[in-house]
Amino acid sequence: MTLLDIRITRSNSISLDGLPSHVGNTPLLPLRRVTLGLSPRVKVFIKAEWFNPGGSVKDRPALNIIQNALINGDLGSGKRLLDSTSGNMGISYATFGAALGIPVTFAIPASASPERLTLLRALGAEVILTDPLEGSDGAILMARQLAAERPEQYWYANQYNNPANWHAHYLSTGPEIFAQTNGQVTHFIAGLGTSGTLMGTGRYLREQLPNVQIISMQPDAPFHGLEGLKHMPSAIKPGIYDESLAGTNLEVRTEAAHEMTLRLAREEGLFVGISSGAAAVAALQVAGQLDEGVVVTLFPDAGYKYLSDKSLWERK
Ligand code: PMP
Repeated sequence: MTLLDIRITRSNSISLDGLPSHVGNTPLLPLRRVTLGLSPRVKVFIKAEWFNPGGSVKDRPALNIIQNALINGDLGSGKRLLDSTSGNMGISYATFGAALGIPVTFAIPASASPERLTLLRALGAEVILTDPLEGSDGAILMARQLAAERPEQYWYANQYNNPANWHAHYLSTGPEIFAQTNGQVTHFIAGLGTSGTLMGTGRYLREQLPNVQIISMQPDAPFHGLEGLKHMPSAIKPGIYDESLAGTNLEVRTEAAHEMTLRLAREEGLFVGISSGAAAVAALQVAGQLDEGVVVTLFPDAGYKYLSDKSLWERK
């Protein structure tokens, strides 16, 4: 069943065509200049997820979670969708919430970039700020508390434990990468936030191509500047995360990701977010060890939400 086949009837009919039907089918773009020096038989491609209507990879799980909740009747009778988010998931929920008439509430660390908080409010979301020192875990604990205290008001979407998160990638990101590389992908690398991207895409590719290498990437330290990513050893482990799926795990320094983010803008014309810079660092590390191969990673969002970090962008 595709999204377009679904019509859900509450008091009036909710249609998932229009904006939601444009989620996914993002371009797969080659890196051409930051790859100089690699073996000529090694290609590196990136999945350009900022092409999604809500501006990030999180459109895929947000839409799938909402769609499942509507089918199961979880979001009937005016309940608010509640979740914790570092920003992008909230923007995606709020985008489709506005389009479909579903009210949304988020617990979000007060340290999230001002662009993200403003965007959430612009889209009509209720935003509950949590202690920046507690990071994304503080937001998770707040969402759990609200869901337990007011079950009649909130439906807790719980992106960290909801299988519809990784299923979205199993159903879309994985098949798209397989098709766009003509089944030639040899290595897939993704950063870990909820881990939904890596779990869903990795499982699909592994089923199609038993020899494909699945590689996870995360920050090298508990306090880091890679918004959207988690340092797993020191964080609340997402229920959907299975660390045995990836054969290799790479750690990326914030400074290395910042430098690469700027290089991507200046050498590739790709104005992307910091977790994309981190993904490129990891992908180039993997590609640098190969004689031949097709390395694919995913760039979760564009750079606009990080513009207030002037020291990052205005370097010489
Ligand atoms: N990068 C950014 C910018 C994100 O917002 C997220 C989602 N938190 C990720 C990477 C990680 O994606 P996932 O939750 O699928 O692991």
